Amino acid sequence: MSQPTSTSPKVVVVGSGFAGLSAASVLASKGYRVRLLEKNNEPGGRARVLSEAGFRFDMGPSWYWMPDVFEQYFGLFGRKVSDYYELVRLDPAYTIVYGPEQRLVVPAQAEALEALFESYEKGAGLKLRSFLKQAAYKYEVGIRDLVFKPGRSLAEFLSPRLIWDVLRMDVFKSMASHVRSHFKHPHLVQMMEFPVLFLGATPRNTPALYSLMNYADLGLGTWYPMGGMGKIVDGMVSLAQELGVEIIYNQEVKSVKSQGGRVRSVLTMDNEYEADAVVVGADYRHFDQEVLPAEHRNYSASYWESRVLAPSSLLFYIGLSQPIEGLTHHTLFFDEDFGLHAEEIYTHPQWPSKPLFYTSLASKTDPGVAPAGMENLVILVPLAPGLEDTEELREKYYHLIMDRFERLTGQAIRGHVVYRKSYAHRDFVKDYHSFKGNAYGLANTLTQTALLKPSLKHKTLSNLYFCGQLTVPGPGVPPSLISGQVVARELMKEHPLKA
Ligand SMILES: Cc1cc2nc3c(=O)[nH]c(=O)nc-3n(C[C@H](O)[C@H](O)[C@H](O)COP(=O)(O)OP(=O)(O)OC[C@H]3O[C@@H](n4cnc5c(N)ncnc54)[C@H](O)[C@@H]3O)c2cc1C
Repeated sequence: MSQPTSTSPKVVVVGSGFAGLSAASVLASKGYRVRLLEKNNEPGGRARVLSEAGFRFDMGPSWYWMPDVFEQYFGLFGRKVSDYYELVRLDPAYTIVYGPEQRLVVPAQAEALEALFESYEKGAGLKLRSFLKQAAYKYEVGIRDLVFKPGRSLAEFLSPRLIWDVLRMDVFKSMASHVRSHFKHPHLVQMMEFPVLFLGATPRNTPALYSLMNYADLGLGTWYPMGGMGKIVDGMVSLAQELGVEIIYNQEVKSVKSQGGRVRSVLTMDNEYEADAVVVGADYRHFDQEVLPAEHRNYSASYWESRVLAPSSLLFYIGLSQPIEGLTHHTLFFDEDFGLHAEEIYTHPQWPSKPLFYTSLASKTDPGVAPAGMENLVILVPLAPGLEDTEELREKYYHLIMDRFERLTGQAIRGHVVYRKSYAHRDFVKDYHSFKGNAYGLANTLTQTALLKPSLKHKTLSNLYFCGQLTVPGPGVPPSLISGQVVARELMKEHPLKA
């Protein structure tokens, strides 16, 4: 750990999501003078917290996967996750509802999981074991050798060991066919395909390399930070401040001044901040197309238009005056045709006719996120990005989902709603400058992986870098933490501290 001095390079980081906070802390810990500018009045970006009527809702991420990545992050600074928040493993991990009487409750323990698979399909227990063994290998190679690569040159991937590993990792096979070569029962197939939905693409368009996500799901487990996902943000903010990062809220970066192929300063409504280097953790497309002057855009408008985005979402944050019976913390409602919903997201974008949806009941694990005896319910419906988003449509879908929810759980809950707020495309754009209101950035398809993602380094401005869910390694909280570290290392290589 090094202390910045008055001659240390000044770095401006734009955006206080996981990626921006991660980059800022790494740079500050190495002796750079770091200022972090955030447009909103609070940190966390998509992981902000909504506190209303005694309820505390995580507005974005709710699944805590890959605990090793969080431990690795805090470990960089000689800290542990437990220095900042208490983590509990969920058991059962989650439930999948396939119909009123059809539920698959996913246990945390391997033996119970194998027995569950066996009960669906003879031989599936052993197949699960070998599937997860291979997935664990992919996870290990992925985390050790792939996700920390900056994706700037093919040479990064040309070691004989890595080529050998990658060839064994099903890069050119789809997740859909990989899963089906092991399991036949539709409920098991859907359960094994579900984790790739976090990557923003369908199992047919996602390389089977990403069965590493099954290891993250079933091997490493589903965890929860007591107090909610916002506790991760709180921890990262206190760490950043301990390291000397100056975080300034209500500072939306509107433009940059450049000279001689370098950014010299960034401008907000009321201030100008000098910079020796700039890291953008804000939505890449917004900064590229709306903040940088036209002559310095890294990509064309048509490039951005042709990207496959991960879905947007319609969310409802709901406070209930009484608990819901018989559901776990996380529940996936897969009682309708997955293929049709996927088609209405990716192929013919439109509001879905029979949407799948997800509910989080954090108060089942953590009574502190709702008033005594009440329940904290978040509903998430994945939607195509770029759709028209009106109050009428939100209301229509509220009742459509509530009808299904009430029928599938056998409980009338609408009369117990004491707080309700909806959130969708318009809010994502307004709050985060999100491109087409996307929730999770770019889909991790084969043609949008590693070198083929928007570059973390600007092509002509030599001190401008990007991190976050639209660049390497991709969407999700753990990848965003990694993205901040990767960009910080590139910056330190190219703009080292003077001896
Ligand atoms: C509803 C939802 C559910 C999710 N569920 C999960 C989950 O369960 N598990 C998981 O791992 N991941 C999940 N994700 C994905 C995960 O939350 C994101 O991938 C991650 O939070 C992205 O972090 P980021 O730092 O890249 O971007 P952001 O969080 O978007 O941060 C960017 C920041 O930049 C700021 N900004 C934008 N423009 C400017 C500007 N001009 N000037 C200054 N500041 C600016 C924004 O206000 C924002 O604070 C979910 C996301 C959503 C939306």
